[in-house]
Amino acid sequence: MFTRREFIGTVAAAVPALRLHGSQANEWGSPVFDLHHHMRQAAAANLAHLDGAGITKANLLTRGPVQEQVKALGALAPGRFTWFSTSDITKPEAEAQLTQAVKDGAQGFGELKFHVAADGPELRRMYALAADLKVPILVHFQEVDHFDGEGTWSTGYAKVFESILKAYPKTTFIGHADAFWANVSADYHNEAAYPSGPIARGGITDKLLGDYPNLFGDCSANSGNNALSRDPSFTPDFLKRHQNKLLMGSDCSCTDGHGAGVSQQGNPAAARLAGKCVARETLTVLKKSAPPEIFGKIVWDNAHKLLRIPQ
Ligand SMILES: [Zn+2]
Ligand SMILES: [Zn+2]
Repeated sequence: MFTRREFIGTVAAAVPALRLHGSQANEWGSPVFDLHHHMRQAAAANLAHLDGAGITKANLLTRGPVQEQVKALGALAPGRFTWFSTSDITKPEAEAQLTQAVKDGAQGFGELKFHVAADGPELRRMYALAADLKVPILVHFQEVDHFDGEGTWSTGYAKVFESILKAYPKTTFIGHADAFWANVSADYHNEAAYPSGPIARGGITDKLLGDYPNLFGDCSANSGNNALSRDPSFTPDFLKRHQNKLLMGSDCSCTDGHGAGVSQQGNPAAARLAGKCVARETLTVLKKSAPPEIFGKIVWDNAHKLLRIPQ
């Protein structure tokens, strides 16, 4: 955490990075919306990643009461940021905090990354609240540790998530992370965090995206990139099938939008992306695998529709 004074200082330092963006095309041939950008402490660091990677707008994932920082960043770069909020969902005050965040302008909940079951009481409360407040909920599903003692997150995806989609038809879910993406392949049984090689058709995630209008997919992180990269014969049809359900996201921690700084910290299993910008890598595989119309939906249009914001 940082003080308001420090934050304002970093805002002032960021001003030279401000440029005119709007919805003009850029190096990717389409404006780009990054659904999965964890807010960085220094305001300038947020803009450095967007500008470096050719990203027009980003959705800030934040935790706790950070309304002032979000407001300052929005004032610095008008129209370039939306935000999601999360709070410790194992605590009773989570519902009040998230309700307040939405009243203050948060467009969604996320990311929800806690050591609880995907169908446990803590997440169920959040699924119901997201429906009441009419905002999407972004959930991190992970069954395999990245390092000893990490633990698992929103567990039980493959077994229970279909029942959740059925039980909460008014909740808009955005699936993310290892278990969500590994299960594009029908032969996955929680062996590796990031399975490689050909995808067995008919995986759970592919099926759920097709069958449930309330499920969307966030392409961010090594997990999303790996699923879209591991079998080039699978990706174009997958993107075509779910062209209205997939959203570009980076979850990248590089400093400059070109892979500098520490990328994939604490996650040796994701070494394939070390030294690279996840945003650039995922935009590249999406562009290679989809015609311009579908690429434009996934990297721009779908996020605007889902978050109900003007383009
Ligand atoms: Zn995550
Ligand atoms: Zn990056």
